Amino acid sequence: MELLSPAGDLNKLKYAVYYGADAVYASGQYFGLRAKSTNFNREQLKKAVKFCHDHHRKIYVTVNIFALNRDIKALPEYLQFLQSIQVDALIISDPGVFALAREYAPQIKIHVSTQANVTSWSAAKFWFDQGAARIILARELNIKDIAEIKQKVPEIELEIFVQGAMCMSYSGRCLISAFLNDRSANQGLCTQPCRWEYDLVERSRPGEQFRIEQDKYGSYFFNSKDLNLINRIAEITELELDSVKIEGRMKSIYYVAAVTRAYRSAIDIGNNKISDNIKNELNKISHRRYSESFFNSNDSKKTQYYGSSAYIREYQFIGEITKTIQQSAFIAIRSKFSVDDTLEFIFPDFEDDFQYTVKEIFDEENIAIQSAKPNTTIRLDLDNKIPNWGIVRKKNNED
Ligand code: SF4
Repeated sequence: MELLSPAGDLNKLKYAVYYGADAVYASGQYFGLRAKSTNFNREQLKKAVKFCHDHHRKIYVTVNIFALNRDIKALPEYLQFLQSIQVDALIISDPGVFALAREYAPQIKIHVSTQANVTSWSAAKFWFDQGAARIILARELNIKDIAEIKQKVPEIELEIFVQGAMCMSYSGRCLISAFLNDRSANQGLCTQPCRWEYDLVERSRPGEQFRIEQDKYGSYFFNSKDLNLINRIAEITELELDSVKIEGRMKSIYYVAAVTRAYRSAIDIGNNKISDNIKNELNKISHRRYSESFFNSNDSKKTQYYGSSAYIREYQFIGEITKTIQQSAFIAIRSKFSVDDTLEFIFPDFEDDFQYTVKEIFDEENIAIQSAKPNTTIRLDLDNKIPNWGIVRKKNNED
């Protein structure tokens, strides 16, 4: 079973690969559904494909907008370009884009995006008959639905999401952002208004707002919990699916690395004996409350959290190690830390992780400083060996 990680840019892609992804998914600058992600220009896409193939990994490119007439003109040339650089698959939701891909990039496999909301074996069979290689199933299916689709249409590859943010609607069937902000989720521009707080207004009484309060914080009644299926990996493996996917092309390299290595370990263990250390890794990234969402049932009470839409942040991403000289680590800083703080260093292999209480910090001029500030590079002289691709984090104070 393939582990598929998000790659918002080339650096995140490298972290995904080094922390255990078998494949990554990325977007070019047009026609993908994460317009606010950094995304890849053509040169970067070429480099990304080369990097993945040099490391025997696959790369899938999203072309999963619901296209408008104005989008169609530029698509054939873009699809031909993607075929010329030999991406491994295109992720598509719109039947019109699907048809263009079959015509202009016939050598590339097509994965039907979760935005297409495939929820039955009949829909899976339909897409197989059209020439799709894989279905990324709707996130609203439970384990029995998934098993039945696998059993009835074994000829098509199946992929499911195991980690990340959920929509309160079927993916792609949401118009709130387009309506309130003129930024369409179906064009990759969602501003996540499902995380906002709303009042109730009766239609014939405009201006008379009824505040909806669950408690003193109000109520976030569209707010979905984040998906987390790490405890179900053994069952998912038994389903013999082809791929499990992590959501989050807009998240940091720390998120990509930490989540990828947790699922890499869980898949490699292959049974229910996943250690708390591995599971806890998913509590150390920025996340909303977790749920197994629809995987068990369609009990909506378990999928929503009305109390707050704020992220839970137990740890801060401090920075990435960009260079090492023996036991000295040069770190590109994202968040401040100071002398006497305790930092955690994480690496692709859990066994290499260590903690370090900061004694001295040196700036780029080799001058000792008291605190490291964001967007600078500093040096720490550590007591451990430092494997490649290290990331530094710090536990937030309890208060
Ligand atoms: S507003 Fe929320 S539910 Fe709607 S598309 Fe955006 S993230 Fe999904």
